[in-house]
Amino acid sequence: MARRSRVAYIHDPEVGLFYYGPSHPMKPHRMQVAHQLILGYELHHKMSCYRPHKASPAEMRKFHTEEYIDFLLKITPDNMHEMADRMKQHNVGFVGQYDCPVFDGIFPFCQIFTGSSLDGAAKLMDGSADIAINWSGGLHHAKSDEASGFCYINDIVLAILELLKFFPRVLYIDIDVHHGDGVEEAFINTDRVMTASFHKYDGNFFPQTGDVTDVGEGAGKYCSVNVPLHDGIDDSSFEQIFKPIIREIIGTYDPKAIVMQCGADSLAGDRLGVFNLSVHAHGECVSFLKGFNIPMLVVGGGGYIIRNVARCWAWETAILTDSQVSNDLPWNDYWAYFAPSYQLHADLRGKDWTYSENQNTREYLENVRNTVLKNLRCLQGAPSVQMQQLPPALYVDMDSEDEDELTDDQKRVRDLERAIGEMELGWRERVEVEELAREGGREGGSGDETWIGE
Ligand SMILES: [Zn+2]
Repeated sequence: MARRSRVAYIHDPEVGLFYYGPSHPMKPHRMQVAHQLILGYELHHKMSCYRPHKASPAEMRKFHTEEYIDFLLKITPDNMHEMADRMKQHNVGFVGQYDCPVFDGIFPFCQIFTGSSLDGAAKLMDGSADIAINWSGGLHHAKSDEASGFCYINDIVLAILELLKFFPRVLYIDIDVHHGDGVEEAFINTDRVMTASFHKYDGNFFPQTGDVTDVGEGAGKYCSVNVPLHDGIDDSSFEQIFKPIIREIIGTYDPKAIVMQCGADSLAGDRLGVFNLSVHAHGECVSFLKGFNIPMLVVGGGGYIIRNVARCWAWETAILTDSQVSNDLPWNDYWAYFAPSYQLHADLRGKDWTYSENQNTREYLENVRNTVLKNLRCLQGAPSVQMQQLPPALYVDMDSEDEDELTDDQKRVRDLERAIGEMELGWRERVEVEELAREGGREGGSGDETWIGE
């Protein structure tokens, strides 16, 4: 039997107090409601609980532009009228009129959810946790210099950049109903991060990207996986496409850390979503990934029916902590939200929900799955993926200028080592590369040798 995972739970009670404005679908309050269920089920006894640090502007600038962070730091509902040009440039606007409004406390809000993801990454890196949970994170649409889709700072990209200091390959998985475009874009050119997003796609649905043919670019070719789905996908269809693709990704790519975005807008009855998943099926994705025993940072994301988001993330916290919980919800401060069933696994569709039939035919899903699996087979041979298996004899002097002396394999290793050197490795990975070099049997003392083979 697998041993119980050590779980770090990162939560700041203040995160639920921020407000995007009346009628805006994104309600940070949902984090507070989810937290209440987690406490009610006494799951906090199964985890190490931490209050996060507030991410600094310098930490945010590791992905975002200096100008954009400066703008977010300065702007408030009171001074925004003087910053109209910059607001347009960074895709933010007035409360009540824009997807990304300038609300009171916008920067401290970003600092909390970003600090939480960074702290979660740190727990995986220092080995004190196998799983880290930050339900306030998962803002996957934010770009380096602009806000998008209710997201201002991309905590996921920043957390992955941290994880890359320590882990050679990171897998990002996204089950939000919307394409994880900000994360995919950030790592589109590297094979050190694989992104896999399961989402609604028809070319119009926000953010209008994520076709199955989008597979990454340059060194990152075949390291972006997109699984476009139609309205109404149900539990069994989702499971049938999710599991084989994830199994193949993990088998092929051999990730050393995972970041999972658990956007709850893929649940049935969501205000913005169009899927038809139950909390059970959503949680099954989490459970499936947990079974691989790879260090994992789990973050939230979309989700626009508060009671269902809370149900989903409480259930997934139970899964991650190997806990059995009752279907009867524990008494909590928001009891009335859960009427009339007061149950964890309830009919998620409110009375206003127009039920969408599953428009994903068996043939369609098989086609998408086969295309994705075919693309993944092309991945074999990607440099960083092979890094673990490189025979020592392939070691080459990174400073060599003598191209003619090198075989194609040696050039590939040389390029790989240069690329790794540029990515600010953590000490443990540097040691790994250095050991690889030593084992390569660097001999002789001429100093002119470009590399030593067998
Ligand atoms: Zn979403």
